[in-house]
Amino acid sequence: MTDAGDATPASERIRLRRGAHLGSYDRDSVHVVLDAGVVAHVGVVTPEGPVVIPMGYGRDDDVLYVHGAVGNAALRAAEGEQVCVTVTVLDGLIVGRSPFHNSMRYRSVVVRGAARRVTAADEHMAALRLISDHVISTWEHARPPTDAEIRKTMVLAVPLAEASVKVRAGGPVDEPEDLDGPHWGGAVPLISSWGDPEPADDLVSGIVPPSSVTDIAGTRAT
Ligand SMILES: Cc1cc2nc3c(=O)[nH]c(=O)nc-3n(C[C@H](O)[C@H](O)[C@H](O)COP(=O)(O)OP(=O)(O)OC[C@H]3O[C@@H](n4cnc5c(N)ncnc54)[C@H](O)[C@@H]3O)c2cc1C
Repeated sequence: MTDAGDATPASERIRLRRGAHLGSYDRDSVHVVLDAGVVAHVGVVTPEGPVVIPMGYGRDDDVLYVHGAVGNAALRAAEGEQVCVTVTVLDGLIVGRSPFHNSMRYRSVVVRGAARRVTAADEHMAALRLISDHVISTWEHARPPTDAEIRKTMVLAVPLAEASVKVRAGGPVDEPEDLDGPHWGGAVPLISSWGDPEPADDLVSGIVPPSSVTDIAGTRAT
């Protein structure tokens, strides 16, 4: 992770101000956090006002993809417009000697840019697979999507040209006069992991999960 103080943001609007030394703009750092994350929050200005919707996502090099039903109001409002997509991995809680210095351990990415609706059939299909396989790679084991399913799904592409990363690790940064005081300071790590696969109630007996499903059990989620 490079120090944002030494790096140049692609635009002024993604320049970190507070805690800038925790940040970076380099693409590898952006990719690492996006590849570790599970949920994206997609921020859109709709005719009814701003809305932020959680969604799955996928990444192909420097493009982030999100998808949803063609009737999805947020995605429809986002088409061709400026959006802000954030991905956050929560790694723990930081407990200060005073609540003022409570914080969190995290890795986060903020992406700002214009959302392009994907219309080319090959990119559309590739993006659906990327999104599907982002966390658990089951596409090649599942029934292929039908034309109707594909038609019902819209995909937006957001370039990663304007993206920033911020990573907070370690413990609290307390007031010097509090360090010799009686109050506890430290951190509580958050470690999330995937559990054992649970077959569907109506699964035909004898069908075993693909290795991508069994392999994920017990591994770190983020
Ligand atoms: C889980 C979590 C909890 C947080 N809790 C708080 C809180 O309670 N209060 C608080 O003030 N801050 C909190 N933060 C930090 C917050 O995200 C901002 O970094 C912080 O408010 C400082 O923003 P700023 O003024 O520097 O940037 P802003 O002026 O708000 O944003 C300018 C640009 O900086 C970049 N940027 C800002 N924050 C981030 C980020 N986290 N990751 C990547 N890029 C970023 C974006 O590109 C943005 O366009 C939290 C962060 C996380 C991940």
